[in-house]
Amino acid sequence: MKSQVLENIENLQFKEVPRPEPSSREMLMKVQACAICGTDIKIYHHGHRLITFPRITGHEVAGELVEVGEEVEGFAPGDRVAVAPAVPCRRCYYCQRGEEAMCENLRAVGYYWDGGFAEYMLIPREVISGGCVNKIPEGLSFEVAALAEPFACAINAQELMWVSEGDVVVVIGSGPLGCIHSRLARIKGADKVIILEVSAHRLEMAKEKARADFYFNPAEDNVVDKIKAITGGRGADRVIVACGSDKAQSLALELVAPLGSVNFFGGLPKDKPLATLNTNFLHYKECYAVGTHGSSPQHNRLALEVLGSGLLDVEDLITHRLPLKELKTGLGIAEKGEGLKVIIEP
Ligand SMILES: [Zn+2]
Ligand SMILES: [Zn+2]
Repeated sequence: MKSQVLENIENLQFKEVPRPEPSSREMLMKVQACAICGTDIKIYHHGHRLITFPRITGHEVAGELVEVGEEVEGFAPGDRVAVAPAVPCRRCYYCQRGEEAMCENLRAVGYYWDGGFAEYMLIPREVISGGCVNKIPEGLSFEVAALAEPFACAINAQELMWVSEGDVVVVIGSGPLGCIHSRLARIKGADKVIILEVSAHRLEMAKEKARADFYFNPAEDNVVDKIKAITGGRGADRVIVACGSDKAQSLALELVAPLGSVNFFGGLPKDKPLATLNTNFLHYKECYAVGTHGSSPQHNRLALEVLGSGLLDVEDLITHRLPLKELKTGLGIAEKGEGLKVIIEP
């Protein structure tokens, strides 16, 4: 089968590899859509603590089952499925408490196991028994189903920071996840959603895609004053930092209202993880700062359900569709922020 093998850092090879042969407890999926994620770009340049090379990456993946091992129950060839990539061990301290996103022995498709940037993907037994294979609701396309994973991460983030009805929500960063956060906050009943974005080009794109109420550029606008004006001087109830910027993290603490919450959703670069924060904002405003980085199988199931119900749609966030051999081009498009979601269709 054709595949994109990351042989090592920045060494991506489009090549023929043997098609995996599933055991009696595994399944084989014909990949129909695999979306490029910010993490795929990070892995390409820097590797990842959970990855050994060579590896086929790609973890936002959906496809059709072509082979189902005889011991696997509940699935049949022809089933359309989306895979939740983060596979909890279900034995550790956090798994036992139902906090599977915090699993101490987390393994992931596209990291520990080969992922979706290939014609076929093996679904290992741990992924099946971990409840990570979900049937795609009728009427939902493979490419939208592949976006259940980033959507699940947004659901986890907004749960942990209590986004709810009547909130004023600020999202800093208007990439694909910034836009998804904005839309999700909307269906959770946010009163107002405000997008902040330092790239003029991205801000223009967000005006079409994010479905927010206000759009500001912190490089040009005094956003502290703007948000005070919108909130009667209080500040924003929820601030989501959907970008990897220490300045944005610092700004978030300034923008949040007393008793509000902030989520550092975007991680900082691993070689530059320090930020200068005015912690007196936490001290005096009695607000909460949290971070989230992934999702559990349950969040993925919920994400697919919500997408299937039509309550939230993400199809128009897909700006590029490319064949497998153009993965490198796709990584470049995503990295430069020229588009929002780039889908590889093997
Ligand atoms: Zn992802
Ligand atoms: Zn665990």
